[in-house]
Amino acid sequence: MCRHLGWLGTEVTLSALVLEPPRSLLVQSYAPRRQKHGLMNADGWGVGFFDAGVPRRWRSASPLWGDTSFESVAPALRSSCVVAAVRSATVGMPIEISATAPFTDGEWLLSHNGVVDRSVLPPISAAESVCDSAILAALIFQRGLDALADTLAEIGAADPLARLNILAANGSRLLATSWNETLSMLRRPDGVVLASEPYDDDAEWADVPDRHLVEVTADGVTLTALDATKGP
Ligand code: GLN
Repeated sequence: MCRHLGWLGTEVTLSALVLEPPRSLLVQSYAPRRQKHGLMNADGWGVGFFDAGVPRRWRSASPLWGDTSFESVAPALRSSCVVAAVRSATVGMPIEISATAPFTDGEWLLSHNGVVDRSVLPPISAAESVCDSAILAALIFQRGLDALADTLAEIGAADPLARLNILAANGSRLLATSWNETLSMLRRPDGVVLASEPYDDDAEWADVPDRHLVEVTADGVTLTALDATKGP
């Protein structure tokens, strides 16, 4: 995925998060401002959200800007925990729904903004697609989200060119990493947004420094440096 967004807070509509802001994911799908790789995100989109603790997904392999069904229904869908993304497929990766974030293990929703050499990843039968992000998601699910920092350190050591911005949530925890791609955070009175880039020009947006893990829970926000030297 090339631009993603996560929310943990009070219930909001999916349209308020994904479609309505002046520089929303919808606008980022054709005119991102901070994207370092790729010009637009036309290869699909996905919105995942927790509904009474159950992760639900709506994904497509078409551009978000053409989806009048999602535009119509999104104002009626509300959640307190959301993971959404618009995709610019890495060269050689399939353009299909199963390669489109968010991925899930039934408990977590997960998006990957970046790229990883698939030859450094172990073969994982649970992967939804042969797309690098789908295999990486399956590996992270297998190792467990509590081991996310260690998993990324291992992959980063094996593939120094990897870009490993992960966004994941389970309904009560929202995690995001910055690893060679942009990441910003907005603390609002009603919740926290973690996004590849700001969806508006609010002065409260803060850039997350590279190689960091952000965790949001009801108790607050913690920022941890990721150890790029740690590896297997
Ligand atoms: N490598 C992933 C894909 O092909 C993500 C690409 C990206 O972040 N632009 O879908």
